[in-house]
Amino acid sequence: MVFDYDLFVIGGGSGGVRAARIASGEHGAKVGLAEESRMGGTCVIRGCVPKKLMVFASGFPEAMADARAYGWDVTVGGFDWPRFRTTLEADLDRLEAAYRTTLTNAGVTIHDARATLVDAHTVRLADGTTVRARHVLVATGGRPFVPQIPGAELAVTSNEMFHLPQLPKRALVVGGGYIASEFACILNGLGVEVCQYYRGAQILRGFDDEARGHVATAMAASGITIQCGTDVLRLEKTDTGIAAVATDGSSREFDLVMYATGRHPNTEGLGLEALGVAFGRQGQIVVDRFSQTAVPSIFAVGDVTGRVNLTPVAIREGHAFADTVFGGKPTVFDHDLIASAVFTRPELGSVGLGEEAAREREPVEVYSTAFRPMKTAFAGRPDRVMMKLIVSQETRKVLGCHIVAPEAGEMIQLAAIAIGMGATKEDFDRTCAVHPTMAEELVTMRKPVRIA
Ligand SMILES: Cc1cc2nc3c(=O)[nH]c(=O)nc-3n(C[C@H](O)[C@H](O)[C@H](O)COP(=O)(O)OP(=O)(O)OC[C@H]3O[C@@H](n4cnc5c(N)ncnc54)[C@H](O)[C@@H]3O)c2cc1C
Repeated sequence: MVFDYDLFVIGGGSGGVRAARIASGEHGAKVGLAEESRMGGTCVIRGCVPKKLMVFASGFPEAMADARAYGWDVTVGGFDWPRFRTTLEADLDRLEAAYRTTLTNAGVTIHDARATLVDAHTVRLADGTTVRARHVLVATGGRPFVPQIPGAELAVTSNEMFHLPQLPKRALVVGGGYIASEFACILNGLGVEVCQYYRGAQILRGFDDEARGHVATAMAASGITIQCGTDVLRLEKTDTGIAAVATDGSSREFDLVMYATGRHPNTEGLGLEALGVAFGRQGQIVVDRFSQTAVPSIFAVGDVTGRVNLTPVAIREGHAFADTVFGGKPTVFDHDLIASAVFTRPELGSVGLGEEAAREREPVEVYSTAFRPMKTAFAGRPDRVMMKLIVSQETRKVLGCHIVAPEAGEMIQLAAIAIGMGATKEDFDRTCAVHPTMAEELVTMRKPVRIA
């Protein structure tokens, strides 16, 4: 059989770009890649990157208030959203161009088009042309899911948040996951009156309970109204905004309603069903540990497989795929002990098991401390940070680490190295503290607060 490509990648996001670059640039494969929107995918264009820049933007009022407490003569003027948005858009253009250059330099042929599968080796591009490839990698990511309530069309999702014509005065964020909670904090920091509705009992499901409570308390203290056990029944356009009629019987008016109630994998219309590719309950593509689907020539990586939906995971899955199939080096990416951060204010950094999950697995010791950090205590702020370690009673290994603090994302990256190497509580204790820091508490917690 004659092929146009050794590999054809569908989707130019985190996973697809990495796989294409390594397969072509490092392993010499002939690679084509189709992207129907902007190169870089969710992370670069409408996810991690623009979000983190908004997190930075939203932190300045607090920093200015602290600066005053430290003796600086500063005042915060208004926030110029259009100016920030223009700079943000220019930065994303720059990043998108850099992604294209990287791919082109690696020898990848880019097709700016939607791609679908015709058979196990044939891909159809939007202009009707077809290409044949020995292997196909589906890396089409996911998209926001909005429940079909009456008035759903009045709501926006994270996709639109970076392009708002102006900032709202009153915003409702629906959802309790990390994206909802981060945007609640961003808007709050930018001076918007924020309400967050979540139908569950506590935001940030899946993270350690104590850490979730700590973040929720801090968010509420900063002025965000978090209403758990509340969902929206319908949205209605009013003369002055959008009315959200909720399950608690209330009707409140907002200028903006943002839904962050989960994401669905982009598998519809790709032609995969007919080929025998298997799907999970959420529509995610089922793959084995080498990211191979039930059809031997078709692989899938990243959010479309719904394993762990984070950028570094998509990247590592894409890399492992390229090394396995084109580098002669079978590589499995281990999905255990993936550290992650939630960029709320304060941040939550987490790796390994939460207390509840750990206790279900084995007897544990829990070490936990909460305290007012030096920097903000001096500024007269009541903020508290939290550090927590979950330790196996049997092996003494640290099974989980959870930090709620400014820059917790930076701290957890380093803790993850030690925990990934199998560090015990005694290894932590032996480590000399760095003083004065917040993180020194991680190596100075002597007595468990709970043995369970
Ligand atoms: C608001 C937000 C914030 C986030 N923050 C973080 C964070 O802080 N840290 C983190 O690790 N992760 C974060 N994520 C998650 C992260 O963005 C994703 O896990 C990551 O982008 C997944 O990469 P991917 O390659 O699987 O898919 P994507 O990056 O989604 O790329 C898929 C690409 O495929 C294209 N495509 C789809 N169908 C077709 C088709 N048929 N033909 C051609 N092209 C197609 C799409 O246009 C898209 O560009 C965030 C996500 C969101 C939405």
